[in-house]
Amino acid sequence: GRTSRYVFVSVEKHPLAADDLVRAHAAGPLPDLAARLVERWPPLTTGLHTLSFEAGRVELLLGLGDARALLRELVLQADALYLDGFAPQRNPDLWDEWLLKSLSRLSVPGTTAATWSIHRPMRRALTSLGFETGLAPGFASKPEMTVARFAPRHTPQRPAGREPLAPGAKRAVIVGAGLAGAACALALSRAGLACTVIDALPGPAQASSGNPAGLFHGTVNPDDGPHARFNRAAALATQALLDELGVPHQQGLLRLETRLAPAQMQQAPGYVQPLSAAEASARAGAALGHPAWFYPGGGAVDPAVYAQAMLGASGATLRPDSAVAGLREVAGGWQLLDAGGQPIDDAALVVLAGGHDQLPLLNGCSDLAADLVVQRGQLTHLAKAPWQPGLPVAGDGYVIADGHGGAWCGATAQDGDADPALREADQADNLQRYARLAGLGEPPRAPLAGRVAWRLVAPDRLPLIGGLAAPGPQAAQLRLQPRRPGLLVCTAFGSRGITWAALAGRLVATMALGAPRPLEAELLDAVDPLRFALRRQRRAGG
Ligand SMILES: Cc1cc2nc3c(=O)[nH]c(=O)nc-3n(C[C@H](O)[C@H](O)[C@H](O)COP(=O)(O)OP(=O)(O)OC[C@H]3O[C@@H](n4cnc5c(N)ncnc54)[C@H](O)[C@@H]3O)c2cc1C
Repeated sequence: GRTSRYVFVSVEKHPLAADDLVRAHAAGPLPDLAARLVERWPPLTTGLHTLSFEAGRVELLLGLGDARALLRELVLQADALYLDGFAPQRNPDLWDEWLLKSLSRLSVPGTTAATWSIHRPMRRALTSLGFETGLAPGFASKPEMTVARFAPRHTPQRPAGREPLAPGAKRAVIVGAGLAGAACALALSRAGLACTVIDALPGPAQASSGNPAGLFHGTVNPDDGPHARFNRAAALATQALLDELGVPHQQGLLRLETRLAPAQMQQAPGYVQPLSAAEASARAGAALGHPAWFYPGGGAVDPAVYAQAMLGASGATLRPDSAVAGLREVAGGWQLLDAGGQPIDDAALVVLAGGHDQLPLLNGCSDLAADLVVQRGQLTHLAKAPWQPGLPVAGDGYVIADGHGGAWCGATAQDGDADPALREADQADNLQRYARLAGLGEPPRAPLAGRVAWRLVAPDRLPLIGGLAAPGPQAAQLRLQPRRPGLLVCTAFGSRGITWAALAGRLVATMALGAPRPLEAELLDAVDPLRFALRRQRRAGG
């Protein structure tokens, strides 16, 4: 049917490079499909990659890395498993009980398993894990193959914190028509839900996401910890979605490297390229003074245009000029209330994606706001810029050419500052940054111009994406923490809303419906809205 979706999950330690993929399919029977696969083929970085086809109805979730580590990190319930590792005798790691146990963890009663192999120890292990195992006619030269069905004597308890929050929902209401809300609307509508997006303002993307331009990019970090992995996964999702939706953007970006010498700059394959100061300067058209990372998949975009493109593609109904002042739990969902306590709307699934303006609403249903900071930021517009970089450049601050002889540069950051007016002092700071990046002795002079907006920032500089705690005692692990049904938050996008929105929306949709999560379990925990409460509890408990 229209809403049926198909997710194919594949784990691969030695993925083909794009060129090899082209060669492998050159004489294949499906040239059109192969070309589309090649078109979406990601940089071969460790972790999960979502390749989206047919407007999101078909997805390839590609896990690059060691199966033994990755299978443990997958959060999904499989309908069918297929083991296609090389010979068990030569490759025992892919067939042993430990690995098969990771697969059984992804199974529900009725999940099928199949493999070309009839290796006896493997079949015994499947049986001991609760699979009914048999033999069937094999393919090609194999007379027999193994088929199995998960029929455990005791159905294993699923972690409460990973349960779908609105499994049967047909409709969602999303609070906030900025980048966060637009991305949620797109992902949820692609999952088959009818979406309404409510905003207090007269149109979409008029608060923080109304900035005229901004950067998107991952980050590189030698230890490749949660921040680097989340930012990279998110930036890859953004790049793919901008291309898919045809959103105009500047492709490619330079980030200056001020700590490492060029010889120390190790590249992640296909993802970033280290450039010497001379090479970077040539691309940027200015004397940059530092080596830089070239991010082929990063760039700059007008966030409002991007948000509107997501909303347009979602087909969501936009309900402007409607401030949501409260929520009330009702049978089968939530009611959204106006300031007078009158219902505005109701739905089985409500997503709170309202950025910093939403804090009062968040306060009404959680204690999350206590951990968040609202930060004022001012961007500067130089109508006539002495330097318009050939591609966006980020370092201490950033510069983006505006395409009309000018440039945007920024940005300032002041916590807890509610002043909406442009300030000369902030503009002077931005022009100083511009001058330093451009290698100019003196900052340029320019009339006061730009935009002020606010960032909602979590203390660990990661977003809040997930469910709120159900009443009752707090669990000792996020994955075990029961959540309030039908309610998700998607917020605290800090200074990375453009980079994070696409992945965040997808996370919200998969958490609501119980679909395969596009991120590893460790990263789901890293963005869990309840992480601060858990850390507090741990500190209190010693
Ligand atoms: C100066 C500056 C520069 C930045 N540069 C970059 C950059 O280069 N790259 C990047 O990725 N990010 C950048 N950011 C951050 C980025 O702008 C934000 O992360 C992003 O816009 C946040 O999107 P959002 O949808 O969460 O919030 P918003 O865009 O603020 O949208 C929230 C919406 O929810 C609505 N709303 C809130 N509460 C309610 C309610 N109760 N009822 C109804 N509606 C409600 C609001 O009206 C608003 O329209 C920058 C931010 C600033 C301030």
